[in-house]
Amino acid sequence: MSRQDYEVVIGLEVHAELSTKTKIFCSCPTKFGAAPNTQTCPICMGMPGTLPVLNEKVVEYAVKAGLATNCEISENSKNDRKNYFYPDLPKAYQISQYDKPLCEHGYIEIDTQDGNKKKIRILRIHIEEDAGKLNHDEFGGGTLVDLNRAGVPLIEIVSEPDLSSTEEVDKYLKKLKSILEYIEVSDCKMQEGSFRADVNVSVKKKTDTKLGTRTEMKNMNSFRSITRAIEYEIERQIDILEDGGKIEQESLRWDEVSGKTFSMRDKEDAQDYRYFPDPDLVAIKLSKEYIQNIKDSLPELPESRHNRYINEYKMSEKDAGIIVSSKYLSNLFEEASEICKNHKAVSNWIISDISRILNEKEMEPNEIPFTSKHLADLVTLIDKGTISSSIAKKVLTEMFENPREPEEIIKEKGWIQISDEGAIKEVVQKVLMDNPQSVADFKAGKDRALGFLVGQAMKATKGKANPQMLNKMFVEEINK
Ligand code: ADP
Ligand code: ZN
Ligand code: MG
Repeated sequence: MSRQDYEVVIGLEVHAELSTKTKIFCSCPTKFGAAPNTQTCPICMGMPGTLPVLNEKVVEYAVKAGLATNCEISENSKNDRKNYFYPDLPKAYQISQYDKPLCEHGYIEIDTQDGNKKKIRILRIHIEEDAGKLNHDEFGGGTLVDLNRAGVPLIEIVSEPDLSSTEEVDKYLKKLKSILEYIEVSDCKMQEGSFRADVNVSVKKKTDTKLGTRTEMKNMNSFRSITRAIEYEIERQIDILEDGGKIEQESLRWDEVSGKTFSMRDKEDAQDYRYFPDPDLVAIKLSKEYIQNIKDSLPELPESRHNRYINEYKMSEKDAGIIVSSKYLSNLFEEASEICKNHKAVSNWIISDISRILNEKEMEPNEIPFTSKHLADLVTLIDKGTISSSIAKKVLTEMFENPREPEEIIKEKGWIQISDEGAIKEVVQKVLMDNPQSVADFKAGKDRALGFLVGQAMKATKGKANPQMLNKMFVEEINK
């Protein structure tokens, strides 16, 4: 048998840290990057006898996430203890949700490669507390625990095993991430671990009806590693099956450097955790009205903006996709268009030059240092003929380096377009004198010669001459 005879089955458990100001069961701050153990109290340090109190914002954010992903919201829900010992979890249990999660039976729609839509079902979304962080080998080979992250609220979004390729996984994760960003429940900073996924992979022969045994790669926080890890794991599993072996259900660790997965531990089953309702916390009861209020407060979601851009602005599917993929870019587009009234130009800047610079600098859209007003002003300066589009590119680079008004930049750098007829004429005449061959070529019908002449004039003026005026003037002068 070969690779083609197998089908890939993937299910994801995504953990997103909620951007509430305080932790889930105490009032410690959740800010990332503080000195170790400075954002802790007896509750989140797991001292015996302390009492947790559920942060209402956590429930609100989780319900928001559920509604934005088409889930049913449970009016009756509760917190359960999931028991396990781990050094970054001093209580020896994590407060999570077991049989009554806040949200169930949702879905996210993704575009598949053949141009169709596919629903990826969401089994559940539940709330839980994050664990602390172990710092290995930082001080003389020991391991130290930092409990700042302990008690930071998480939602876990569990998909059904509906994904069948790395492309689908990528699309699902990006869609989910953008939804959470749009509804502002998580900053989804992957490098800070606020959006991370456990990736469950199995393979089965196409003729088999039963799913294969899965392995699970824990805590993946980069799109690239997720794709690489899944590809590796598919090959590894097929090789084992082809050799007549069996897949062990286990948790794996992906090693970025060697490009391989390693076994961490046998995978526990639910019964190993001895779940039971947390007796320190009251049940969570939500009224229909409470849920409806949250529903009414949801902002416009990426899906709807996407359709609107295609219909209202006649944007291509692809361009709309790029802009709405980030709420920040999408807001930038809307605000700048509103100011300069040239949405076509604004979207072009975002899709081409701004995206390229973000890529080169490995920056996230929300790190763009200039405002939507600055971008709008840049577009207006081109529209008014104050600067050419080639100068505008230089202004944009400068706006990234040292953000200020585009007008100030061009004044300071002396980049204002030359639109003075006399000055343009002078340049044109000089270029014509220096390039008699091109003039002859143009007269002989070689239109390309005009492009060359304009290019020479641009060079002479360091790109500052008004290109439309140059074109016109050259033709006039030659035909004189
Ligand atoms: P656990 O916490 O034990 O991993 P969950 O029910 O929270 O269990 O998550 C299981 C995840 O594994 C889900 O995302 C589910 O879609 C996925 N999954 C289940 N069975 C398979 C399988 N055979 N192949 C791939 N993924 C699977
Ligand atoms: Zn605390
Ligand atoms: Mg799992």
